[in-house]
Amino acid sequence: MIEIDKLCKSFGEKVVLNNVDLKIDDGKVLGLVGINGAGKSTLLRILCGVYKSDSGSILVDGKESYDNEEVKKDFFFLPDDPYYDFNSTPNSILKLYEALYKVDRDKYFELLEHFKINPKLKINKFSKGMKRQTFISLALAIHPKYLVLDEAFDGLDPLARLKFKRELIDIIEDYNSTVIISSHSLRELEDICDSFALLDKNHIVSSGNLSEALEEIHKYQIAFPEAITKEAFPRIYKSFSSDGRVVKITTSLKYEEVEEKIKDLNPIFIDELSVDFEEMFEAVVEEGGYLA
Ligand code: ADP
Ligand code: MG
Repeated sequence: MIEIDKLCKSFGEKVVLNNVDLKIDDGKVLGLVGINGAGKSTLLRILCGVYKSDSGSILVDGKESYDNEEVKKDFFFLPDDPYYDFNSTPNSILKLYEALYKVDRDKYFELLEHFKINPKLKINKFSKGMKRQTFISLALAIHPKYLVLDEAFDGLDPLARLKFKRELIDIIEDYNSTVIISSHSLRELEDICDSFALLDKNHIVSSGNLSEALEEIHKYQIAFPEAITKEAFPRIYKSFSSDGRVVKITTSLKYEEVEEKIKDLNPIFIDELSVDFEEMFEAVVEEGGYLA
């Protein structure tokens, strides 16, 4: 288990993380989300010992993680722009990483073959997607206790995502790995994560179990005989949009409660719609005034 407590980090005058608190359970996939520049990479770099925090602590199974080799060997960090030398090939990076980690070679080559990546060619000449596929294959072949992926799925095609998603589930099952993956795109992560943490305004504004959080929020489409304004609608929503006679709201209220609250407006029908990760965050963010 990872416990991040009151973590702070500034670059010069610029405060990036201010009192970040987060608990990460073992054997799960945590999605760290936030807009570009929110501080996701900074938080992951501190977590993996690339940067030092200004204050606060990170405990891994109760042990302070900074400069602790015993803790660090359980982490594999895949940065958003992994380093490789001009002449590096998938074969040569394997040798490099084998000096640091136990790598499952069969798995690595199996994944490369699946993605039709020639291990003898220069990574330098690969497309962005092929570079990502190479490094994710390596990360999966290392199957560390803690796998930290920074924007790892950015630019991957849907089939590659699906393959990696299945492989991630396998390493969690087989090795009880914990996966922490960041993204600026909520939709990219929603089918992968068990839990989430939203980084905004320098700290974690919302976190928890993803499906439980999704159950707490409902979306309704409501039609009225005549156009209705936001002002005329009872303040039961977290978010509100209207195209005249048809209104869409997100709210924590259940169907019957909504029905009761708006009965005086004589709705023609109320339909419950499914809510995705992104809509849930829009609702959280709007309610917290974070969009203001
Ligand atoms: P994200 O990954 O969420 O897009 P980052 O953690 O990369 O955000 O960056 C958060 C903020 O910290 C940005 O304003 C960025 O410019 C700043 N920042 C990140 N790394 C450095 C650094 N090494 N030196 C100075 N500023 C940095
Ligand atoms: Mg980043």
